[in-house]
Amino acid sequence: MKIIVAKTAGFCFGVKRAVNIAFRVAREKRKGVYTLGPIIHNPQVVERLKEKGIVPIEDIKAKKDIKALIIRTHGIPLYLSKEISSIGCEIIDATCPFVKKAQYYAKLLREEDYQVVILGEKEHPEVKGLMSYASDDVMIVDGKKPLPRLKSKVGIVVQTTQPVEALKKVLSHAIEYAKEIKVYNTICNSTALRLKETEEMARKVDVMVVVGGKNSANTTQLARLCGSLSVSTYHVETSSEIEDGWFKGAKKIGITAGASTPDWIIKEVEERIRYIGG
Ligand code: SF4
Repeated sequence: MKIIVAKTAGFCFGVKRAVNIAFRVAREKRKGVYTLGPIIHNPQVVERLKEKGIVPIEDIKAKKDIKALIIRTHGIPLYLSKEISSIGCEIIDATCPFVKKAQYYAKLLREEDYQVVILGEKEHPEVKGLMSYASDDVMIVDGKKPLPRLKSKVGIVVQTTQPVEALKKVLSHAIEYAKEIKVYNTICNSTALRLKETEEMARKVDVMVVVGGKNSANTTQLARLCGSLSVSTYHVETSSEIEDGWFKGAKKIGITAGASTPDWIIKEVEERIRYIGG
């Protein structure tokens, strides 16, 4: 039985950086440090951090002993960072630098008097953060529906995980209204590369094992992609969920993982499958 692990499996640059920051802070054994929401969508990593004293909270007023807050990769809205600072709480900023760049461009467009258009999901925390940096007449679009009427001077920024095809569609709609368009292509290609490699792998193997949190959007996206192709697909959070019968008669097994899956969990899954395969 041949086992292939995707090169793009596991932490992306931004997640690796955020997790490193959180564990570094944990090693300092400071009291009253929390993460605003789970640092990443991986229950095992969140549990390890909890054991080291860093617990996620949803509301900054929920804890009286709060001294510092670690901000996750998606970033937070401007008003919230002001609110956190106003209660005397330190911000340990683990926002991904690519997201920071998109926030910076949204602010720049506002200052240069552009109507800001954000391509992204309205309810996504990254987009909520971006909106706070943009002009009051900011518009959120998804690239599927035609754009409503725009002003003549339009500036576009993009949620980092959006596909490039969606940006092309938004541009072709915007051109119908605007006389001047400024575009900051803030798409991070980490997700696109992971999807591409996963698809290529899924077409070559008999069984695909997708590793990562069941609450992780990008891991479930990988599992859905594999499931849509004619390959047996299993989505597991840890090696303990793997069953021997899944690999009966299989010659090639592919393993991929979402951006929030740590290396040690991928390794355990690989070893478990290797053991089953003899
Ligand atoms: S997917 Fe890209 S933008 Fe998002 S956290 Fe990872 S590196 Fe940063």
